[in-house]
Amino acid sequence: MNNHYHSELVKKHPTLPARVMRMQTPHGEVMTPHFMPVGTRAMLNYLTPEDLRQNGSQIILGGNTYHMLVSPGMEVIQAAGGMHKFMGWHNAMLTDSGGFQVFSLSKKGSVCIIDDKGAHFKHPITGKIIHLNSMTSIQAQKIIGADIIMAFDQCTPETGGREAALDALDRTHRWLMTSIEEHEKNPNSAYGFRQALFGIIQGGSFRDLREQSAEFVLKQNLDGIAIGGEVIGFDMPKTMEIIEWLRPILPDNKMRYTMGVGLDPQDLIDVVGAGIDIFDCVAPTRNARHGSLYHGKIVERDGWLAFESEMDNTRIHIKKSIYSRDDQPIMDDCGCYTCNNFSRAYLHYLFKEGLIAYFHLSAIHNIHMMQKVCTKMREIILR
Ligand SMILES: [Zn+2]
Repeated sequence: MNNHYHSELVKKHPTLPARVMRMQTPHGEVMTPHFMPVGTRAMLNYLTPEDLRQNGSQIILGGNTYHMLVSPGMEVIQAAGGMHKFMGWHNAMLTDSGGFQVFSLSKKGSVCIIDDKGAHFKHPITGKIIHLNSMTSIQAQKIIGADIIMAFDQCTPETGGREAALDALDRTHRWLMTSIEEHEKNPNSAYGFRQALFGIIQGGSFRDLREQSAEFVLKQNLDGIAIGGEVIGFDMPKTMEIIEWLRPILPDNKMRYTMGVGLDPQDLIDVVGAGIDIFDCVAPTRNARHGSLYHGKIVERDGWLAFESEMDNTRIHIKKSIYSRDDQPIMDDCGCYTCNNFSRAYLHYLFKEGLIAYFHLSAIHNIHMMQKVCTKMREIILR
């Protein structure tokens, strides 16, 4: 096992900013573009690690720092020998700093307060106050032991205007420096594996703030660059605009990660076409759970791809009664276990009855589609 992190540009698309990167981590290699399924609470809803591997996942977002601090607690993860062993995922893993979760909590008011010192929240069961700051977040991520860890940041709200964006940016930059300081005391995980540290660009929807943040983050010469904020992945036109602002200043040899992108396969095609390498989103499994199954054709157009369907939003809503006697698979040419073996009528029945098998089979299909789109993008760039 190579105990190092390394990323390199393999090939660029001849006319678009899309590219294939090779990323080497202590737990294996990842070829990008690559979608990272999200195992927020040290598991993927309804999927085993084997399901993920069989459907093309080389890297996941495993065990979010906030959730792991709450339960099972860092002592349990350390005793297990880290998150890879704890959740049985032995390939590459990224974790996040907890910054986004505390931001979401703080929007609810009294549950969590964020100030210059970090986030302070009440443990939902014991009531004990937990302080999450750049130092404790990095320490927790060392115990989680992911191959890629994230600097502690403050997510920029989309409602606070320029002042709130500037505040979040200042804090993110200050916390980045203390995150680096903590990480550099020992760049390995608690189990001796080299960890890569990514910095996060904030700045909301303001071009000058985004550029200012990018320059600051890039100056630190980190292993990879993430683009964060409430807007990313949520508002795709704005996300694309922000990527266009930043791309000219992003170096070729560093991984580029848009945090929270992946509501639909087309979102992946869009950000990769603009030069992004990795992304994560809870949407594919959440959509599946709610009966929303990706449906479309990956078509080649002008040297790039599109995901198109005659259905609404490139999805089938399996609860609709029109599927009750439909013997076709979700998609004819999908190739996933679900589409190879089961009809829409069967999935409609499982969904309506709330049977557990539905959640497993639907999650397989949606994750498979996300990875299939990534595989197609890699093929077209490498061709
Ligand atoms: Zn399928």
